[in-house]
Amino acid sequence: MQAHAQRHARHIALPDFGVAGQARVSQARVLLIGLGGLGCPAAQYLAAAGVGTLILNDFDRVDASNLARQVLYTPADIGALKVDAAAARLAAMNPEVRLTCLDERLDGVGLAEAVARCDLVLDGSDNLATRLAVNAACVAAGTPLITAAVIRLEGQLLVCPNDGSDAPCYQCLYDEHDESLGDCRGAGVLGPVAGILGTLMASEALLWLAAVPRSATGGLLLVDARSASFRRLQSRRNPHCAVCGPDAPTRGNFHPEFRD
Ligand SMILES: [Zn+2]
Repeated sequence: MQAHAQRHARHIALPDFGVAGQARVSQARVLLIGLGGLGCPAAQYLAAAGVGTLILNDFDRVDASNLARQVLYTPADIGALKVDAAAARLAAMNPEVRLTCLDERLDGVGLAEAVARCDLVLDGSDNLATRLAVNAACVAAGTPLITAAVIRLEGQLLVCPNDGSDAPCYQCLYDEHDESLGDCRGAGVLGPVAGILGTLMASEALLWLAAVPRSATGGLLLVDARSASFRRLQSRRNPHCAVCGPDAPTRGNFHPEFRD
């Protein structure tokens, strides 16, 4: 068996994944925003699964306080750019993955271009303003988005297909003034909770890329580590949403799932 097929044998063996699903994964371009507690495990599983191109975006450097949950980094990486430390680790895990590093704060035209050039965006950034900006760029480009957040013992995840369907975008659920999602710097976060949400992001990404048929997945998924429970809220699109509503200036050209 070829090394490539051997590496991915357990995914290829999945009935709804197969050779075709792996081929789609191997050709995909995925933009990962934020290489913190969510982005590290997400990137690990996406690299291990052989995603064709991973574009890594983070402008931050590794700090000692990151090491309890940002599992790509070691003490030797303290002070290094996260994109560089992560890329080195991911390249060692799977040399077949093409890695691109963006060590800048993505916004405006740069964010719009980065989002438009990929098949899927994973947002594991650590603040609401960034998540809203990434959401708006994904809606405008018609690029699917998987966005997640963690704080204390809790996490949440939303998949936004951005395909013209009735699924809500992130802005349908939150706006700039929403402070229910604080900053884990002050509030703290349990490392494995970020791991749960980060691996869930990777799972959603692989199922999406491989076009595996799904049962109902819409709505906001809430994870509570204190009770070890998952709950899904039925979330509707906001017809007056400033980003995806009919009058939104940025609402864009919904595109087919993949582009080259
Ligand atoms: Zn919306």
